[in-house]
Amino acid sequence: MVLAHSVLRAARWRRAVLRLPAQVIRGCQVRLSPCGGLGAVTVGLLRPVIVVDPRAWEALEPAEREAVVLHEAAHARRRDGSVLFILRLWSALVPVPSLRRTVDAWREAAEHACDRAAAATLGSPCTVAAALVAVEGSRHGCRGAPPLAVLPVAGGAGLEDRVQSLLAVEHGTTRAAVPALAPVVAVALAAAAIALTVPTHHLVETTLGFLLSSH
Ligand SMILES: [Zn+2]
Repeated sequence: MVLAHSVLRAARWRRAVLRLPAQVIRGCQVRLSPCGGLGAVTVGLLRPVIVVDPRAWEALEPAEREAVVLHEAAHARRRDGSVLFILRLWSALVPVPSLRRTVDAWREAAEHACDRAAAATLGSPCTVAAALVAVEGSRHGCRGAPPLAVLPVAGGAGLEDRVQSLLAVEHGTTRAAVPALAPVVAVALAAAAIALTVPTHHLVETTLGFLLSSH
């Protein structure tokens, strides 16, 4: 129920944001709107929209703005919002600690992947790292409840690790790669599926049916 409420709230917010004027950065539409302290996010499951908090935007240099947009564009390309929603749905239906840890690990891996994609396109991992730090700094003092079905550009545990990873790439040193999580996620979801009952299966179908027809 909490997840459904969050998705509906995110959908309403997305519709409101779409009415705002867009600017095009690196071929991507970007809209400025307060993000509840998240700095920059991609919102929407089927047609993700990139939103940056005006406070974060002002804190960024032009190249760092491009880095933020490229990071969010990578989330949109990978359909990370949809994957995150499905993972959270399963996690809510089957509250197994190992599944929650899988969701957290997937999120961390997704952030690293989008950081690397932005760095590769921009040709400057250091600029992406600087953008992450700047966005994080702009978040202090921001209030509000952000929609759940979004992916922030920075924040939370793992920021330091992401910056260090980017700097390692910048300096040509190697770090252990983030493991591919697709097989892990698949196994976790399969295990969760076994535990599902008929009523919850029906709930999944109903929810996904609503999402696929709600845009
Ligand atoms: Zn991100």
